[in-house]
Amino acid sequence: MKIGVLALQGDFREHEQMLHRIGIVPVEVRKPEHLYGLDGIIIPGGESTTIGKLAVNYGLMEPLKDFAAQGKPVWGTCAGMIFLSKDVGMEQPLLGLLDVKVRRNAFGRQLDSFEADIEMPEVSERPVHAVFIRAPIVESVGPGVQVLGKLQDGTIVAVRQGNILATSFHPELTQDPTMHLYFISMAKEDLVTNRS
Ligand code: GLN
Repeated sequence: MKIGVLALQGDFREHEQMLHRIGIVPVEVRKPEHLYGLDGIIIPGGESTTIGKLAVNYGLMEPLKDFAAQGKPVWGTCAGMIFLSKDVGMEQPLLGLLDVKVRRNAFGRQLDSFEADIEMPEVSERPVHAVFIRAPIVESVGPGVQVLGKLQDGTIVAVRQGNILATSFHPELTQDPTMHLYFISMAKEDLVTNRS
């Protein structure tokens, strides 16, 4: 199992540490050729406009879209979720792989960061502990997008559309590998369906 982490900007090292913890040696992706042979890729949190601009400069936009089109799992956390989405209501490079409308920095200045336990029955029997930092929310989802997790007030914070997974929060900043294990299970499913 080879899992890449987009390593242009943001907290990619924390994702790498979590992958190491669950026995996966991560591959840092900075150039299109680094995608070769990967079974999945994680796009970390950080600053989505910067990640997008760097992805354009490094010629990664089309290769990342091709990677997803092959059915390989792609997971975006926070800024990564923004970068995956179709619509954020402002001009910035987006992969447009996830049919959702996202609002950046949706919790405002008063609530710069907070933590919450999210019920995610499709992912885990136990609630998933989630850290939100200047987080986006999913304002609306298109058909074919499955809502995996909501805050108590109904705000959508985790979605999946086929091989694309996105969370507004940062599982890589907790001690809980549940979301990473879930992503690995998506990559394993893809290995079984496509390459067996
Ligand atoms: N606020 C950032 C953005 O809009 C995302 C923050 C994060 O990834 N923690 O890109």
